[in-house]
Amino acid sequence: MTLTHGQGCFVWDIDGNRYIDLSNNYSALVHGHAYPRIVEAVQKQVSLGTCWAAINIEQTRLAKQLIKRVSSVEQVRFTNSGTEAGILALMIARVQTGREKVLMARGGYHGSLMEFETGFSGRNGPLNYVAEYGNLEDFQQVFADHGDRIAAVFLEPVLGASGVVPGSRVFLNGVKNAAHMAGSLFVMDEVLTFRLGLGGYQQVVGVEPDLTMFGKLIGGGFPVGAVGGSRHMLNILNPADLKAFHSGTFNANPVTMTAGAISVEELTAERILEMEKLAAMLSAGLKEAARQAGLPLRINRAGSLINLFFTENTSYAHHAREDQEIIEKFHLAALNHGLFIAPRGLIALSTVLTDTIVNETIERALLAMKDIT
Ligand code: PMP
Repeated sequence: MTLTHGQGCFVWDIDGNRYIDLSNNYSALVHGHAYPRIVEAVQKQVSLGTCWAAINIEQTRLAKQLIKRVSSVEQVRFTNSGTEAGILALMIARVQTGREKVLMARGGYHGSLMEFETGFSGRNGPLNYVAEYGNLEDFQQVFADHGDRIAAVFLEPVLGASGVVPGSRVFLNGVKNAAHMAGSLFVMDEVLTFRLGLGGYQQVVGVEPDLTMFGKLIGGGFPVGAVGGSRHMLNILNPADLKAFHSGTFNANPVTMTAGAISVEELTAERILEMEKLAAMLSAGLKEAARQAGLPLRINRAGSLINLFFTENTSYAHHAREDQEIIEKFHLAALNHGLFIAPRGLIALSTVLTDTIVNETIERALLAMKDIT
């Protein structure tokens, strides 16, 4: 489908139909579309120049916020996407350890890079080991068998693409310890989950990684990624030292940095909590709607992130799902009733959503569910 514009929590298609946007560009638009403070600041920045090959003030402003909020982060490098953040984190890990391989979760996603293929698509990434998300012994076993070849383990603190599956503190810390015992780095991918706590999900769950990947909301609606970590970790990229080389024509461009700094600033603790409350309200309403429509519905939720599964069964850490046919139908039926959700049933709330719109969403979802039964 073709969309023409967005405003707040709505988008419009080329035929003039309005949809409640529950995807928010896969969570990147944490303040919805055309957020007034961002629009105003970006317009001003565009008139002042959009990129140059030197530092800009906005980049420092955004970096300082990330450093203030995330205790494991002392320095930040910006990229133009979460995928590039993964490439950079991998480069740092390889240079720091002198090793090549990566360990990740089956069903994990860290961007479209060959090294991360196996976990997500099942295809054979050339440099990759996988283990079962949530199963500490499985990760420990891979480290026991191949630890001396693994540069880093990459983990999302909440599996996103596999259906919003939160990792426990015991699991995440256990993998970190196993990594450190093997001399590998522990990289936490917070591209999707940074929205879940002032200091990201690592603060919520209480686990400090060696490196953190950021993306999505820290660009305020513009292409972005970043890697953060300790001075020691990132210092290899220091141009004076240059053990590793990282550059990019549009990295930290002032437009993205302006939008990103406002996006992060405006994601206050109160707003994170408010989104979580609305997400709980939406989940309860959707469950009741499913009951009325006679459909099984399981909802995975972490804060303002939700994933719908039309089944009674639990634990979705994999790509294949038994409700594939129903979720596809629901996605289309929801569109017909003015709801824009991700085809896989991912819903990411925004701070501009209200309880009135949540109620309207539940009513529309009930109609969509009735259409498919
Ligand atoms: N990691 C995670 C956890 C993601 O959710 C995504 C994007 N869906 C990425 C990395 C890649 O980010 P990008 O799409 O900006 O390349």
